[in-house]
Amino acid sequence: MANCRLTLLTGIVALSLALYGCGQSPSVPEGVFTRAAAGDPSILARMEQINQTLAGMGLNIAAEEIDFFTIGQGRPSNRIHQQPFRWVGNDLRRLAQGDGITYLVDQSDGKTASGLRNAQTEAAIDRATGTWQAEDCLKKLDIVKRADTGADPDIFDSFFGFGRFGNPFLADIVNAGWLPRAFFEAVGGPGGGRGILAFSVTFIFVDDDGVPTDINGDNYLDTALNEVYYNDTFGDRKGDRAGNPWGINIPLPGIDVETVALHENGHSLGLGHFGPPPDAVMNPVYAGIRHSPLPDDHAGMCAVWESWPK
Ligand SMILES: [Zn+2]
Repeated sequence: MANCRLTLLTGIVALSLALYGCGQSPSVPEGVFTRAAAGDPSILARMEQINQTLAGMGLNIAAEEIDFFTIGQGRPSNRIHQQPFRWVGNDLRRLAQGDGITYLVDQSDGKTASGLRNAQTEAAIDRATGTWQAEDCLKKLDIVKRADTGADPDIFDSFFGFGRFGNPFLADIVNAGWLPRAFFEAVGGPGGGRGILAFSVTFIFVDDDGVPTDINGDNYLDTALNEVYYNDTFGDRKGDRAGNPWGINIPLPGIDVETVALHENGHSLGLGHFGPPPDAVMNPVYAGIRHSPLPDDHAGMCAVWESWPK
């Protein structure tokens, strides 16, 4: 329960900051962001290590937030700074496609132990992305799919020994596919492998001193990239989650790919967790099939995107 409460609080803070930013500028000095790390101390320490490694590689990006979507008990979100982050239109540092936001589905890890083929999971992710695109407040935003060329499009898995360090700028949002249980245990800590359905990790841009940038002066950290990882534990006949298989439009106790993809790509588009109550796509714990945004999801997207491009 402590975990659930913490997740709820983090979500409320994130949403109120987002809503606050809508009407007027938050009262922080320009270019200065407050470090107020929140979440699991061991995960935050690992994020700091990763960020030192990225700095050592000469890359001006840093892991900023990890949000876990779970079944059963919730897990706190993990974020480094107090202020939220936003995508910046036309940001050449991330090879932006104009004012659009690009996404990619990594087809090399698209099949599941429960028997889904890559084409099925990719189509479900595309439907989820299309649902967000259809939101009124996202009319000014083009969400553009980029083809998987076969090049490794993700980086976060490499820090845990589950893949190579790919090219982080093949697309803004990468749905990185279904990875083994051990990866989620390594990222989330004890119990993560059987409780975490998927997670979203967002990186921001930093300067050479590791300080977040704000090139458009909107008082939000500048989002660099977002990666989504799905846990292939569910439906693995050899494991204790065989009874919760990934499926397409599958009711509980199965896990519906489109529902999880809608939640995860909500993070990719800037939403944090909130509720329950109220019920929302962005609730931190899985509650069965949910293919349509609910009122607080609408409000959250409007708060983030109504001033786009900025
Ligand atoms: Zn989430």
